Amino acid sequence: MIHILFAAAEALWVDYEAVLRDALDAHGLTYMLDTDLPPEVVDYIIYAPNSPLQDFTPYTRLKAVLNLWAGVEAVVGNETLKVPLARMVDDEGLTAGMVQWVTGHVLRHHLGMDAQIVNPDHVWQPKVPPLTTERPVTILGMGALGQACAAALVGLGFPVRGWSRSPRDVPGVTCLHGKPGLIDALRGAEVVVLLLPDTPATQNVLDAKRLGLLSPGAFVINPGRGALIEDQALLAALDSGQVAHATLDVFRVEPLPADHAFWAHPRVTVTPHIAADTRPASAAKVVAENIHRSETGQPLLHLVDRAAGY
Ligand code: NAP
Repeated sequence: MIHILFAAAEALWVDYEAVLRDALDAHGLTYMLDTDLPPEVVDYIIYAPNSPLQDFTPYTRLKAVLNLWAGVEAVVGNETLKVPLARMVDDEGLTAGMVQWVTGHVLRHHLGMDAQIVNPDHVWQPKVPPLTTERPVTILGMGALGQACAAALVGLGFPVRGWSRSPRDVPGVTCLHGKPGLIDALRGAEVVVLLLPDTPATQNVLDAKRLGLLSPGAFVINPGRGALIEDQALLAALDSGQVAHATLDVFRVEPLPADHAFWAHPRVTVTPHIAADTRPASAAKVVAENIHRSETGQPLLHLVDRAAGY
């Protein structure tokens, strides 16, 4: 009998309980799954960093923590966590959500939709948008989500450059990596999409100097993490016209404080961290598969590199 603790915001249990049981049953596992178990019996913790559980010390026979979120910055540095940490990858719902959100917001700016949607004076201004082939897009972060978004944008005809820490080979994408690659990735980009994790090495990756590499009037789209962009540098770039519009889903402080300049700026779109949510039915399958692998002596999938921070 394995003991699995569900430790996430309390409201999520109702969404997850049945689908987790279905997914665990499908692997033929014998288990006890609950939101409250004596710490010393727990083998696995299905976890979200907004759980009240922050001290893993009492979980003396813990084998792994399975994070329900793709981002792990809120747990990766937890020194009481001594066992492997896996994150959410290959949740088809999460990936599809991100691809749809990114594609929608890229197309909004590419097609200049706002001019038709908000046209109070009913101005007949037949400005034909360019084709996607004329609009270079750069994606910072070519992991699970960056690659899926790149594939969708390549499919629509956009020339796509992708940037990562290590070399990547992604069909149809010009792949660049490391610090020198960042300059080539950003230079002349008309749209930049940020899908990097929040780590000490990625914070403020989009600063004033790098915003200056973009094509004048570029669009910045950030569904990654708030700390990737220097807020003041972005506001200055918006005011100078170097950036035409920023669509931001994630912020240094969430919810975004009511007095933050992003709310008031006419060329910033704020979305409330909704780009891509973990979907219980598909996420349960990912978690159950990892528990099955662990119980059958196979290596865990989607392990976090604690030193790299993602
Ligand atoms: P992932 O698979 O870990 O991919 C991360 C990518 O970033 C990889 O390509 C990695 O390079 C690159 N990277 C990391 N550190 C770097 C550095 N110092 N320099 C250059 N590249 C670096 O992550 P994912 O699943 O695609 O998710 C990406 C992020 O999206 C998450 O961390 C999370 O913050 C965010 N997210 C947001 C939402 C939302 O609703 N807004 C939902 C889910 C996820 P390598 O390829 O070389 O490893």
